[in-house]
Amino acid sequence: MSAVTDAAEGAACRGPKGYSIGSMSHKVTFIPGDGIGPEIAEATKRVLDATGVGFEWDEHPAGIDVYEAEGTPFPERTLESIKANGVGIKGPTTTPVGSGFRSVNVLLRKELDLYACIRPIKLFEGVRSHFVGQDVDYVIFRENTEDLYAGIEYEEGSEEARKLIDLVGELGSTIRPDSGISIKPISVFGTDRIVRAAFEYARANGRKKVTAAHKANIMKFSDGLFLRVAEEVAKDFPDIEFEDRIIDNLCNQLVSRPEEYDVIVLPNLYGDIVSDLGAGQIGGLGMAPGANIGTAAAMFEATHGSAPKYAGKNMANPTALMLSGVMMLRHLNEHEAADKMEGAIARLIAAGEKVTYDLKPTRDDPTAIGTSEFADAVIEEMNS
Ligand code: NAD
Repeated sequence: MSAVTDAAEGAACRGPKGYSIGSMSHKVTFIPGDGIGPEIAEATKRVLDATGVGFEWDEHPAGIDVYEAEGTPFPERTLESIKANGVGIKGPTTTPVGSGFRSVNVLLRKELDLYACIRPIKLFEGVRSHFVGQDVDYVIFRENTEDLYAGIEYEEGSEEARKLIDLVGELGSTIRPDSGISIKPISVFGTDRIVRAAFEYARANGRKKVTAAHKANIMKFSDGLFLRVAEEVAKDFPDIEFEDRIIDNLCNQLVSRPEEYDVIVLPNLYGDIVSDLGAGQIGGLGMAPGANIGTAAAMFEATHGSAPKYAGKNMANPTALMLSGVMMLRHLNEHEAADKMEGAIARLIAAGEKVTYDLKPTRDDPTAIGTSEFADAVIEEMNS
């Protein structure tokens, strides 16, 4: 990962990818997704175009709609487009429960080795939150490829579970025979690169401190390794302060003293949970942007899902995806446009008038505007 920049990250995949040959425009894979995805993605695309930056949108499908049409939620052409362009922006995609349907997001992260999930947690003025008046402005670096999310699981009663229980017995430990088992691998390689990415981000964005979160006192050989490797990597960044926190203590401190946190690096499961804690601090899922970055590609997408009950209603808040678009602009080195777009969004939210239902005092506030009208308002604000 190279230098990532704030509100996003920036570092990872700079270079020829994302730039159209022979022009100054950026070729970007555009995936509308499903549910509320197409509405918020279209709104975001319109605002990105209105920044004046040149984009060549390479649109491809993913999610439940294309699954119904083509029998796969993630067609090969979509993956090839991201590989070729190196940069993409994506609306959310539904993962039906218990259908054998594979998550597009898990597939994407695996296929492209998008090892860093970056989620800025920043409280905008005007947002309704229990943290109004407090300094909430930190960035989560969640490891995306290992830990309990590695997908190595053995069902209770299966032959594999029985063999594993026997092996563990031979090694001198006991697992109850009626157990289901999930394996938690954390490697030196995986930890080194996510912690290094967090430090590089801190350095590139003028942030002062990196905090590593873990439960090394209990899981000595997985979380213990994470902490040990983080301490080693920290020695290569003497200009950035380093500290560690046990994950339960971190959760307590994030709600009692959020101003003390700057960049937080965590293994996969803790990163997932702390991301939602963070979204709750800054006004909800409609406000939480994100990026998944690897060595070969960067995919920008909101933290939230496809919110099916709001699909097609022109109601969803596109801010989280728009702020993911701001992260993408910084990744593409378009800092002026990023500042312009983020500033316009921040002013509109601070004024509180032209905002979607979720940012109003009550959910049925008749003055709330729609997804598309919010995009119009951001464009107008950028041009004012
Ligand atoms: P969700 O994030 O889609 O929605 C939960 C609730 O949050 C919504 O009902 C709504 O009240 C609110 N909300 C979310 N986004 C909003 C927005 N932009 N504006 C206003 N309100 C918003 O979570 P879910 O209901 O648990 O998941 C729905 C589907 O999305 C599932 O199939 C899940 O697998 C999928 N999902 C996809 C992604 C992704 O594509 N990156 C991420 C998470 C969940």
